[in-house]
Amino acid sequence: MFVLNMRHKDMITPNTTSLIYNIIRQNGEINRMGITELSGVSKSTISLQINKLIKLGLIEEKIPTDASQRKLKLRICEHIGAVAGVFLGITKLTMAIYTLDMSVIAEKEYPFDSINDPVETNGIIIEQLKLLCREHQIKTLWGIGIGFPFPVNFREGKPDSPPNVPLWHGYPLKDIYEKEFGCPVLVDNDVNVMALGEGFRGCTVNESDFLFIKAGTGIGSGLIVDGDIYRGANGCAGDIGHIAVDGSSAQCHCGNTGCLEAVAGGKALAEKAKQLAESGKSPYLKAIMDTGVELTAAHISEGAIHADFACIQLIKHAGKAIGEVAAKLVNFFNPSSLVIGGGLTGFGNIFIGAIREAVISRSPHLATYDLNVRMSELEGKAGPIGAGTLILEYIFSSGQFSTTIDRNIEESTGA
Ligand SMILES: [Zn+2]
Repeated sequence: MFVLNMRHKDMITPNTTSLIYNIIRQNGEINRMGITELSGVSKSTISLQINKLIKLGLIEEKIPTDASQRKLKLRICEHIGAVAGVFLGITKLTMAIYTLDMSVIAEKEYPFDSINDPVETNGIIIEQLKLLCREHQIKTLWGIGIGFPFPVNFREGKPDSPPNVPLWHGYPLKDIYEKEFGCPVLVDNDVNVMALGEGFRGCTVNESDFLFIKAGTGIGSGLIVDGDIYRGANGCAGDIGHIAVDGSSAQCHCGNTGCLEAVAGGKALAEKAKQLAESGKSPYLKAIMDTGVELTAAHISEGAIHADFACIQLIKHAGKAIGEVAAKLVNFFNPSSLVIGGGLTGFGNIFIGAIREAVISRSPHLATYDLNVRMSELEGKAGPIGAGTLILEYIFSSGQFSTTIDRNIEESTGA
């Protein structure tokens, strides 16, 4: 931990200091002129704040290595602290520890047979994260971001009516993790966190308004508006799995009919695969079923690769249903990109193509002429990267900046 040789509390003007620090953090390396242009703050104030940040050990001056770089550049001291990004799926835990510039220090995966019991599951997550910290000599985390695979009340940090794991309802996740690790913790639903990860390091870097759809066992979306997650009044913005698909009467587990998830979710598709196998319409799926293996969405992908007509049609049908719902969102929200992530992206270009076609055919030209409909580039990494980004942005926000410094940078008693 960094040791400060003076009383840093007296030195901080939170808003300007955090503004300057975040400009340096977000730009990698930048000179004083660049900071002046981006901040709109006077040169003398910037000099004062830079000196403060250097004394705190939060930033350093980079000496030019050749004559072409005449001006000193500033960069953050990324190794003075670490944050964790944790992402829980239905069958797997993924976590990573990052430096303050989101470089990976350590990564880990852990398989779960069941996440039904919140006490047991969170006990394992806490144990695994502590173990990872110990293995990499991380004594304290500056913050932890966590994504969970169900609706989360973001403000309270608790799950809200999770459909398949009822014991988690109201479980005080944020409080438990903050007590265990002694640092700020933010918990959010998986799709929001993945959307943030995609915007930070995936295919939508530099885009401030885009839509991320996770198509897996369930279907959900995350909206990035003006560079931040849009959560809505109660935190459930983007919950698109139960929007009705035109002309469908499929029975959904929520009690309604025609929900997108009941038409194009992974579970519904596995059920349709079974019907195609039983009726003999898909020779490929029938051959697999005859071996006693339970059919999943992955078998539909394999069938399409083997040119099984019914499998290809099923993928196109699922893509069309998702695209029709996505078109409503595109019409309403006018995003620059529509990014598709989650397990069903294994269906590949046939799937993405069907989504794109449905979106374009049902949206005005102005909303789609430069709309990018594409697959997530990060796959399994989007979750932990997004969770890490979530907490990093929070601890360095203007409201939290001085608290973060007070908590993590010690004053020297001998100064
Ligand atoms: Zn439903």
